[in-house]
This record gives sequence, structure tokens and C-alpha cells, in this order.
Amino acid sequence: MPDTAKPSTHARRLDRLPPYLFVEIDRAKRALLDEGVDLIDLGIGDPDLPTFPEIVEALRVACADPSTHRYPPQRGTPGLRRAIAEWFEPRYGISLDPDSEVLVLIGTKEGLGHLPLAVLDPGRSALVPDPGYPVYQAASWLAGGEVVHVPLEAKLGFRPDLEGLPRSTFETADLLFLNYPNNPTGAAADPDLFQLAANLAHEHGFLFVNDAAYAEVLFGGPRVSMLQAGGAKDVGIEFHSLSKTFNMTGWRVGFAVGNPEILNALAQVKSNVDSGVFVAIERAAQAALALPEERVQEQVDVYRRRRDILVDGLWSAGWQVPRPHATFYVWAKVPTEEGSQEFSSRVLKEAHVVMTPGAGFGPSGEGYVRMALTAGADRLAEAVDRIAKIL
Ligand code: PLP
Repeated sequence: MPDTAKPSTHARRLDRLPPYLFVEIDRAKRALLDEGVDLIDLGIGDPDLPTFPEIVEALRVACADPSTHRYPPQRGTPGLRRAIAEWFEPRYGISLDPDSEVLVLIGTKEGLGHLPLAVLDPGRSALVPDPGYPVYQAASWLAGGEVVHVPLEAKLGFRPDLEGLPRSTFETADLLFLNYPNNPTGAAADPDLFQLAANLAHEHGFLFVNDAAYAEVLFGGPRVSMLQAGGAKDVGIEFHSLSKTFNMTGWRVGFAVGNPEILNALAQVKSNVDSGVFVAIERAAQAALALPEERVQEQVDVYRRRRDILVDGLWSAGWQVPRPHATFYVWAKVPTEEGSQEFSSRVLKEAHVVMTPGAGFGPSGEGYVRMALTAGADRLAEAVDRIAKIL
């Protein structure tokens, strides 16, 4: 019988995708939970704190208003787009045109996932940080593009050595993904890196994006946007999310800002595959962006305290983990001779603590694990005690 007799149940392009890292971990975790084990989950970066009550109240009011029940405007409501521009300007000193330079997304993952379909031609390449959020690579492959891993090394502060890349790398590149503040390494944004990326993008004719999903989880230092770099708005867009800042991961709302043509291209893809964000959620997002800054700062202080409990505790246990400058992740070298998968599996089995093996973030993540500060202070202290016993 010819191979074609039985249709394949999936397209070949799916074969390029590794199993989504968090799905694998979830499976092992669920098995232990089914046995009734008391797990401390420092795996997925999903805030354990509730959405701010003012946002919940804004949604309650908005969803009782029937005018929110119809299809939303494709690029986001004018009210939310204006609110985004008003939130952005005092933070970064960049003024945005709400009509052409702001696009509302169903979370940044959605926008990042669709971007390569809009700007990456088949056979051309996307430069993706390694280790990095797996969506950049998967979305590039799904769009028929190639992926070039750009290593982030500790000795360079987890910034890519763009100047050290062979020039031929840029000749085939359509797109460079950056992600600062960085998941998984906890590195903060660096204006010099953004300027270099903007210069290279101009010189070689590629586009660049910064995924700023963790922009507000900063333990000091200035807020930095890629759009502050000279010429960046000609060649790039930046992604922002309400998920981590306001504990809204389940709500699905984020936005992209910057170059109007790139946003148009992304909006064109989106208009063919989705119908935007529920208007009531967009109104709630407006309420989120209008919250006083101190409210978000109080939450950052919660993460700071958690970070210090985990980092100081693990140092006392003999594991010298670095203290992140931003994000709610601790990115640490595996303290034993084990690989990252082996070590995190053992920690899960013996200490009942979930951490994410670095290899899941790309080849350069091997030898590291990531711990998310998404458990309360007591649980983190307990995690330290448990880990200390098995090191
Ligand atoms: N970007 C990075 C770097 C992330 O770590 C995540 C979520 O973990 C996202 C984007 C997704 O954010 P959103 O909830 O806005 O889709």
C-alpha cells in the first residue's frame, strides 16, 4: 500500500516541535498529586496571587453591560488603546499614537505566536535567545522559518553577543527576538543592547522585537523599553502583558506597541484567525493600567522578599544561586554532576519540589534549573529545607 493510503493525522511541520516543556512536567507533577503528595510548585511562572480586586470589579460591571457582548474591535477598543498610550508615556518617555502604534493582543503569547506568520518568510530565519521562552522558536518553525539560537551566557550577563555573530547570520535573518526582563535568567533590560539591536536591524534589514512581559517585575534600576533606542520604532515592536503585572494570566490580554507597519502585518494575520479580546476584559484592563503605581510596587516587594528567602536559604544550604535583578525567576546552575532534567526529576521525586529543567529552554539552558517565586514565603522556606536535605 502506498504511504498516501492513510492520511496523516498531523502536518509534518508539527514534527519539528519538541514536546511543550511544561506539558511534560505537568504530567509528572499530576502523577504525584494523584498520589496525594504535598508538592511545592516552583515550575510554571503563573502568579499565585489573585487579580487586583479593582480589576475584578471593573470586569463585573463591564460584563453586565450588553454593549460589551458583541464582537470586539479587531485592534482593541479605542479606550484601551488610549489607556495603553497614557500608561506608556510617563513610564518610558515615549508617546504612542493609539490608532497606529498600539495593538491589543489575546495575551503576549498570542501575539508572539502569530508574529512570524506576519513577518518571517519561509526559509528565512529568526534569531531566538537560548535559553528562551519556547514560543519564539515554535512560532518561527510553524511559520515555515528557520531558527538560529543565540546563546545567552552568564559571563555576558545573559545578553546575546550580537556583535560576535558571523555576518552571514544576519543575511538570512528576518527577525530577532529579545526578551528583557528575561525569562528564564532574570536579567534586566539593557539600553545598550537595544541600541545595538536597532543598529544591526537597520544595517542588515531585519526586524526586532522585545518581549517585555516582565517589564514591571523589577528589583531596582530604571525601567527600559526597546522603543527608547534611536531608530527602534522604524524596525521593531515591543510586547507587553497584563498577565504578570496584575496577576491576570487567565484573562488573556496584552498588547504590542511600536512600528505601525509591523503592527498592521500582525493585525492582518490576527484578523484572519481571531476576533480580539472580550470588550469587558478590555475595560478591566483599562482599570488595571489606571491602578496607582504603589499597588504594583507592593507586589514587587512581595517577590523581592520571596526571592531573598529562596536565594539566601539555598546559599545557606551550600547552593550558590544568583539573585535575579528582575522577573520572578531564579536561574541557577545545577549544584551536582547531574543534568538539568535528571536533577529536577530527582528534586521532584525526593523533595517534592517542582522546578523547571533548563534544557527545556534551549541547548544553552542545559546545566541550569529555573525556580519561579510563585509560592508564598512559608512554602519557599519549606522548599529550601526540603532541597537542602537532598543536595
Ligand atoms: N513572554 C514570556 C517571556 C513569558 O514568560 C510568558 C509567560 O510565561 C509570556 C510571554 C506569556 O504571557 P501572556 O500571558 O501575556 O501570554
